[in-house]
Amino acid sequence: MTHPAQPKASHFINGEYVEDTAGTPIPVIYAATGEQIATVYAATPAIVEQALSTAKEAQKAWAKMTGTERGRILRRAADIMRERNHDLSVLETYDTGKPLQETLVADATSGADALEYFGGLAASLTGEHIPLGEDWVYTKREALGLCVGIGAWNYPTQIACWKGAPALACGNSMVFKPSETTPLCALKVAEILIEAGAPAGVFNVVQGMGEVGGALVTDPRVDKVSLTGSVPTGKKVYVAAAEGMKHVTMELGGKSPLIIFDDADIDNAVGGAINGNFYSSGQVCSNGTRVFVQKGIKEKFLARLAERTGNAILGDPMDEATSFGPMVTENQMNIVLGYIEKGKEEGARLICGGNRADKDGYFIEPTVFADVTDDMTIAREEIFGPVMSVLDFETEEEVVARANDTEFGLSAGVFTKDFTRAHRVIGNLEACSCFINSYNDAPVEAPFGGVKASGVGRENSKEAIKHFSQVKSVYVRMGDVEAAF
Ligand code: NDP
Repeated sequence: MTHPAQPKASHFINGEYVEDTAGTPIPVIYAATGEQIATVYAATPAIVEQALSTAKEAQKAWAKMTGTERGRILRRAADIMRERNHDLSVLETYDTGKPLQETLVADATSGADALEYFGGLAASLTGEHIPLGEDWVYTKREALGLCVGIGAWNYPTQIACWKGAPALACGNSMVFKPSETTPLCALKVAEILIEAGAPAGVFNVVQGMGEVGGALVTDPRVDKVSLTGSVPTGKKVYVAAAEGMKHVTMELGGKSPLIIFDDADIDNAVGGAINGNFYSSGQVCSNGTRVFVQKGIKEKFLARLAERTGNAILGDPMDEATSFGPMVTENQMNIVLGYIEKGKEEGARLICGGNRADKDGYFIEPTVFADVTDDMTIAREEIFGPVMSVLDFETEEEVVARANDTEFGLSAGVFTKDFTRAHRVIGNLEACSCFINSYNDAPVEAPFGGVKASGVGRENSKEAIKHFSQVKSVYVRMGDVEAAF
């Protein structure tokens, strides 16, 4: 019998599901059991061509609609997503393995927030009037054209919406390629947009690996590429996009610092560290995986952290009591287990976890290492799994320098009751998405992105509009034209 997660077809182009079984088969594996639940096929060159030509054509009429009309469609799509939250959350759980307890509140809901927010902004994308005596300049905020979105596997619904909603609000069309690991959810986003009234072809989904992504990025018809992925992929895609002088947004990896001063509320700080390391089993780009704890409270912090981490419920992700799911794939599990071994070998003190859990599927115990030093591999490389490194520090100056000593710069957090210090420290940290006495909140109203190797451009908020549109400047002369000859 066909599994309920099996989509009608692999791709969604020009308002309908499209199949081409000549493409490489991509098995969809449910991470909690290792069972194959669906198959999709990578896009063949013919599918890529169909998606790009359709999107290019559809964009013209879409951009000519008023912002109010486009916005209404996006907001209707948001309503449909919210009505179907339960089913979409179940699909997200099948796609990623994340527990339903999380997906019910974090995935289709945040996708709907993006559709609603950018739907609301669509009608207010105006230019300005610049008087110049009798003449004037007016500006227009115009769409870029055809945008390509490429997603990572940790938030397949959210990433499709975080890219698709602002792109469409500005009058662009999009071809979106999900990660081959999680190909299911973006298809539902495409289906819902059509149901909400979006013209066929403005949001299309094609499946495939890096090869398909590469074909999309290098196509001369594409005006913008927005990637969520790792730094090495980001560098490749950025170079390829630069060849065609395309606009880019790069949402890449991190190794973010979370700094806990000795005056912090310990339970809140422990909660922040848990949210910043173990949500989605640690598969979150903005995670605060280098937890710097001021020496005076270190043992108290570790004891409370170990106690609360012991309360994580690993198990069937479809059981709403489960609070901690598996790694997305066997491969990702093995990568993370490799880092845990490295941590042990390099002399970090294991506080809790440290093993594959004794279950079917790709579960790893939530793991905390203490006495981690700045040079250890687990303190330098992005692990993308449930491995927290706790490092000690003594002074503010020291911790800021050490926190910034990384190629990454996605997020940063500070826990302290001293607000002057909190703002000063955040001001000195090299990151975009920062938190004071909190961690990992990602409301659509707030800009999200990275500095240094963690990326370029911003998603969410009004900032995202700037990255999916461009300004045209028109000089209007009322009098005669003076010329030298
Ligand atoms: P990857 O970089 O491996 O892949 C990202 C996407 O790029 C996938 O869809 C992948 O295809 C595609 N891709 C790979 N090579 C190319 C290429 N040459 N040209 C075009 N596309 C290509 O990342 P993961 O999927 O492993 O995701 C984890 C990473 O994503 C982590 O580093 C994480 O920090 C980052 N991330 C960043 C976020 C942010 O907002 N800053 C949010 C979430 C994750 P395929 O995999 O199908 O082959």
